[in-house]
Amino acid sequence: MQRKESSMTLTKKQAEQIRQVLLETQSRILSNAEDGLNLSMNRDLETPGDSIDETSDEELLSTELRLRDREKKLLGKVRYALERLDEGIINECEDCGEPIGFNRLLVRPVTTLCVRCKEEREARERVMATSASPGPGVTAVQDDDSLDS
Ligand SMILES: [Zn+2]
Repeated sequence: MQRKESSMTLTKKQAEQIRQVLLETQSRILSNAEDGLNLSMNRDLETPGDSIDETSDEELLSTELRLRDREKKLLGKVRYALERLDEGIINECEDCGEPIGFNRLLVRPVTTLCVRCKEEREARERVMATSASPGPGVTAVQDDDSLDS
């Protein structure tokens, strides 16, 4: 099977599909964040980033911060992916420059690595995690893509 040079580029239709997934993910995160905020504070929905100091319930606050941290991280990835999509490089692996398969992108649109590099990186992280922190409860390995399930 002959590969065309344009295989690096997604078709418009493919790009739009991925954009839809990303936008849906983004709005889901944003509405989750709002739900969380509604529980703890009804005012100040416009500036969720600045108003958090005013909450006095520390337990709720820490829970919310964890959640927000997670969501913020994913949101950042989604926005980054949208940028990459706009630049036409969303399917370009950041490590090796090889194209990332469209199906992989559709499932994990926030990914920036092809399957091979992703696996290599995970293997490296596993090694690093086991040698760096011998204790149980190592969470570093399942960072990344597990966020957007
Ligand atoms: Zn790669």
